[in-house]
Parts: sequence; C-alpha cells; structure tokens
Amino acid sequence: MNATTERDTVQFRLTAIDRCDSCGAQAYIAAEVNGSELLFCAHHGRKYEEKLRSVATSWHDETARLVEAP
Ligand SMILES: [Zn+2]
Repeated sequence: MNATTERDTVQFRLTAIDRCDSCGAQAYIAAEVNGSELLFCAHHGRKYEEKLRSVATSWHDETARLVEAP
C-alpha cells in the first residue's frame, strides 16, 4: 500500500512544551536568528514572519498541523 513515499514530509519537532516567545501559546513556528532559536505560535509567527524571514537563517513552520486538526 505504501511502498513509495514521494513527498518530503515535514519533520514535526515542536511539542506542547514549546511555547511562543510573545504570548506563551503553543509554538508552531521556530526561527533561528543569530544562532538562537525563537519560537512563535501561529498568530505571532505570521505577525513577525515578514521581518524575521529577512534575518532568520532557518524557518521551521508547523502551522500545517493546525489546518489538519479536525
Ligand atoms: Zn504568540
């Protein structure tokens, strides 16, 4: 049934103990800036994304998990 895996699946690594740096909600976005990792909830991730994208060395987005939730 699942002999082939065509897609790269996002490796989810944020958990319930990872919290937004701005409001303390569960983090779904992790950005690495100047060697340190910043965590944001979906709301603040979107809010700061435009600014952070230009300075972040990595951008990890797990907000897709929110869409998949029933
Ligand atoms: Zn937040």
